[in-house]
Amino acid sequence: MITLDECLSPHVVMAQRDHARLEWRKPYPVLARVRPVAWTCFCRATVYELCEGGGRAFIRRTIQLDDDNEVRETSVSSIHETRAIWVALLFGRAR
Ligand SMILES: [Zn+2]
Repeated sequence: MITLDECLSPHVVMAQRDHARLEWRKPYPVLARVRPVAWTCFCRATVYELCEGGGRAFIRRTIQLDDDNEVRETSVSSIHETRAIWVALLFGRAR
């Protein structure tokens, strides 16, 4: 059983009304050796992962469905820029 007390990863907060709208694309294998370096809690239906590889980064969004998962990704950008988007996403300033 999952309770809030057992959550080790962060949850995104509700998106602010004027939040930046990220462009979510179907996954396309652009980066070799990508690994998630941060992620939101899997207790939520929608999980976000900050993925980095080869000095570049993007954010992956997985919506956990009963029969399948819907995976979308942002376009690849610099690690610096993507980490800024990641923080904005966590705090509801981007979604
Ligand atoms: Zn959780």
